[in-house]
Amino acid sequence: VFRNKLEFFAAAKISSSFPPPTLPEIAFAGVSNVGKSSLLNALTRQWGVVRTSDKPGLTQTINFFRLASKLCLVDLPGYGFAYAKDEVKDSWQELVKEYVSTRVGLERVCLLVHTKRGMKPLDYELVDLMERSKTPYQIVLTKTDLVFPIDVARRAVEIQESLKKNKSVIKPVMMVSSKTGAGVRNLRGVLGKIARF
Ligand code: GDP
Repeated sequence: VFRNKLEFFAAAKISSSFPPPTLPEIAFAGVSNVGKSSLLNALTRQWGVVRTSDKPGLTQTINFFRLASKLCLVDLPGYGFAYAKDEVKDSWQELVKEYVSTRVGLERVCLLVHTKRGMKPLDYELVDLMERSKTPYQIVLTKTDLVFPIDVARRAVEIQESLKKNKSVIKPVMMVSSKTGAGVRNLRGVLGKIARF
């Protein structure tokens, strides 16, 4: 499914402008700088055309892309940016929270976690919310090339352990490097199963 042409079709700043949910949807969430744009680029190999900036101060929107009439990929604004003003920060977070807890057709949230840094309080907040709304989510460790394989494995185990009692988490923890391409095919395979055929 990732071979299909990637097409941007909607951006929303408020929930009332979310497009109607007509396709199975996979959303990508995580703190700013976690490597979300790079991963979307690696997965689709076509992100360059549609990439939007995550720089603080610029308008933050939820962006919807489709792969033919098979799958919708949703780019959620990165949260927890240290330099953003509090009110801007809050509105991003509210939008992300509202999206993940109410969106119809949302089949999976990929929660991207920096392998070196691990899960942050805002990640756990999002996890709690997805548990409450029974939204299936999956942890994707990013930038695995920055640490030794043993440390990637340790991080995965640590996170798995911390989510042991959670019900909506899809196992196992996935691990990727957009830089080397490690794990990208594997993730494509897992996510491809959600597409409509
Ligand atoms: P976003 O803010 O989550 O969209 O993050 P970006 O994809 O823009 O990446 C943030 C920074 O991390 C950029 O400087 C990327 O070049 C770098 N980066 C992204 N993915 C990887 C990776 O797999 N390995 C390494 N070493 N760096 C990465």
